[in-house]
Amino acid sequence: MSRIYNFSAGPSMLPLEVLNRAAAEMTDYAGSGMSVMEMSHRSKVFQSIVDDAEARLRRVMGIPDNYDVLFLQGGASTQFAMVPMNLLKTTADYVVTGEFADKSYKEACKYGSIRLAATGEANNFTKIPSQDELTLNPDADYIHICQNNTIYGTTWPYLPQTPAPLVADLSSCILSEPVDVSKYALIYAGAQKNMAPAGLTVVIIRQDIISDPMPATPTMLSYKVHAKAKSMYNTPPCYQIYILKLVLEWLEDLGGLGAMQKRNQYKAGLLYDYLDRSSFFRPIADPASRSMMNVTFKAPTEELDAAFVKASSAAGFSNLKGHRLVGHMRASIYNAMPVEGVEALVKFMADFEKQNA
Ligand SMILES: *Cc1c(COP(=O)(O)O)cnc(C)c1O
Repeated sequence: MSRIYNFSAGPSMLPLEVLNRAAAEMTDYAGSGMSVMEMSHRSKVFQSIVDDAEARLRRVMGIPDNYDVLFLQGGASTQFAMVPMNLLKTTADYVVTGEFADKSYKEACKYGSIRLAATGEANNFTKIPSQDELTLNPDADYIHICQNNTIYGTTWPYLPQTPAPLVADLSSCILSEPVDVSKYALIYAGAQKNMAPAGLTVVIIRQDIISDPMPATPTMLSYKVHAKAKSMYNTPPCYQIYILKLVLEWLEDLGGLGAMQKRNQYKAGLLYDYLDRSSFFRPIADPASRSMMNVTFKAPTEELDAAFVKASSAAGFSNLKGHRLVGHMRASIYNAMPVEGVEALVKFMADFEKQNA
C-alpha cells in the first residue's frame, strides 16, 4: 500500500484508521447484511448511526442543549443563501475576509439589505480586520463571518464583539480545536475539509433563532423544516454521516478537541517556524491572522514556485499548488494530516531551499 501526503484544501485526507474501518464494514455493516450505502434512512440500524454521530458531535464540541444539530446537503455554498433566507428580517452585517466570505456576502445581497462591516480586500486578504476596523450595526439581525479563510490561509484570532447574533462558516476549521459554541447563534460547515466526504453540511443552530423563512423559500432550505424532522425530512447524506461518526470516534480516541488542537498547533508551528527562519520561502498571511489549517507561502520567484510544486508532487507531496486567486503554494494540514507528513514536508522544503537558493 502506498499512501501519499495529500495537502489538498478539500476534499482532503481522512484518517487511515477511518478508511480501514469503513473498508472492513463496507459490505456488511454491524451484521445488517448490507452496506450503510444500501440501507433505508428510516431503518433502525441507520437511525442508530445518526443518533451516535449527533451524540458524539455534541460531546466533542460541547454543544449546549438549546442548539439543534442538522445534517444537510448542498455544501457550505447553499448556506450562503439559506442563512439570509431564514434569518434576515431587516438587515445583516457581513465581514469579507476572503473568497468564501465574499461569496456569502454577494449571495446574501440578493435577499435584502446587507451591510459590509469590513473588507480585507485592500491588503489582499492577508489579515483579519481588528475589532476597531469593524463598523457594526448593533441592531443587525445577525453578523456573518468566515472563521477560517481556506484560500488565503487566515483565521479570526478573536470573535467580533457585538450584540447581534454571530453566524460563522467553520468549513475549514471545525473540529480542529475547541470552540465555545454558546458564543455563536449558528455555525455551518461543509464536511469535506475536516469531517467526512463531500456531500454533508453540518449546521449547529440555536433554537431561538429558528423561525419561518422568507415566503418563497424552498422547503428544503428551511431550517425549521429540517429541525422539526430531525434531519430526516428527506434522504440525508447517509454514508457521509456514517463516516462522520467514525471520524468522531477517532477524534475521541485521540483525546478530543484539546488534544487535536495541541497536535494541530504543533504541525502548523513546524511549518511557520521554518517559513519564518527561511530566507528562501516566505509566509504570505499576516502573523497575527495565520491559519492553523491552511498555510500559504511563496518561493522567491514564480518560476521557483512552479519548480517547487512540480518537485514536491514528484516526491509524494500532492496538492501544494496555491489557489488560483493567490497563486504560490498552500499546504492544507487538517486533522487527518499526520505529524510525520508535515515533518517530511519541512525537510523537503529545506532540501529544496539548499539546492535552489
Ligand atoms: C470549501 C469551503 C466552502 C465551500 O464549500 P462547498 O461545500 O464546496 O460549498 C465554503 N466556505 C469555506 C470556508 C470553505 O473552506
